[in-house]
Amino acid sequence: MTKAYAAAAPDARLTPFEIERRDVRPQDVQIEILYCGVCHSDLHMARDEWGGTIYPVVPGHEIVGRVTAVGNKVTKFRAGDSAGVGCLVDSCRECKNCRKGLEQYCKAGSVLTYNGRDRISGDITYGGYSRQVVVHEDFVLRISDKQPLAEVAPLLCAGITTYSPLRHWNIGKGHKLGVIGLGGLGHMALKLGASFGAEVTMLSTSPAKEADARRLGAHKFALTRDPAQMKKLTGYFDYIIDTVSAEHDYNLYIRLLDTNGVMICVGAPPTPAQVAVFGLLGGRRSLAGSGIGGIPETQEMLDYCAERGITSDIELIDIASINEAYTRMLKSDVRYRFVIDMASLA
Ligand code: NAP
Ligand code: ZN
Ligand code: ZN
Repeated sequence: MTKAYAAAAPDARLTPFEIERRDVRPQDVQIEILYCGVCHSDLHMARDEWGGTIYPVVPGHEIVGRVTAVGNKVTKFRAGDSAGVGCLVDSCRECKNCRKGLEQYCKAGSVLTYNGRDRISGDITYGGYSRQVVVHEDFVLRISDKQPLAEVAPLLCAGITTYSPLRHWNIGKGHKLGVIGLGGLGHMALKLGASFGAEVTMLSTSPAKEADARRLGAHKFALTRDPAQMKKLTGYFDYIIDTVSAEHDYNLYIRLLDTNGVMICVGAPPTPAQVAVFGLLGGRRSLAGSGIGGIPETQEMLDYCAERGITSDIELIDIASINEAYTRMLKSDVRYRFVIDMASLA
């Protein structure tokens, strides 16, 4: 049995729980989990805010650890290697998206790291708030030992979720990029956007985060609750990445786009948004979405970050503080990713 933390119902606190991990199949990698980042999606999912949560749920999809065993057909990993697991643990490998390395958009439905269903056994998948995980080698990422592993963990979701749209839309030099929400995803969008050469503006509800935003790479900072500051930015941005986790007015931000500008939604509030179409057709603006990233691009992002010395700014916590971390996340009190030290799960 493997020790874990789970939520038993939407309104339940996370508490200790034991899970059974599968035996290592020929192409499986068994990983001792050292650190797991805390994504706002974990909270949405633990509380069934998106619908479809199967209980008990063990969240966690920003996993880094050490390989402890491999199946006899594994070629990419050996015991002792550092390894990572993100939001996906399997997909069909055959559809047109899988063949392009876009496993997150698998036509047959990719298997999520938690609250998914194993394609062979049909068992529910359990995430990284646990001591050990077994994953097919195709979905295990190589992690550089040059960087502190705890700070690398959030790259597995927050990193790739912001890297992927920045790359897809070729955002960089000569572009004005706005990032809404300075949390886990937002702080990675600042770091990566700035590293690609874009002029980056932080759009935040928290005045206290301004100094940090600038340190993380923002060239400008605007308070979204100040109508005067927002008005000044009308028509300003080529791209906006929206990382907000809660209900908010999309129209307010669409107005900040220049002609042909694109607002990319990565934040996933549970309630549908009301979008006035006039904000889009005046100026031929687009409202787009982007979901995590595929496995090849996740490896590319990890390698890019290792080369550039980019990691996440984290607050390391014990697993016993996870409920408090959720409470703080809901108050936008994150600086800028909670990461669980899995050694605390004794
Ligand atoms: P987070 O760390 O909690 O950060 C969210 C930030 O949004 C907050 O820190 C706050 O920043 C801002 N915010 C919160 N409530 C707001 C409101 N009512 N109005 C305006 N701004 C508000 O969350 P996260 O882990 O970065 O995740 C963000 C969202 O992305 C979640 O919905 C998550 O599920 C989703 N997500 C999507 C993908 C994907 O594939 N697309 C992947 C991972 C996560 P300020 O204090 O600066 O205002
Ligand atoms: Zn996530
Ligand atoms: Zn597929």
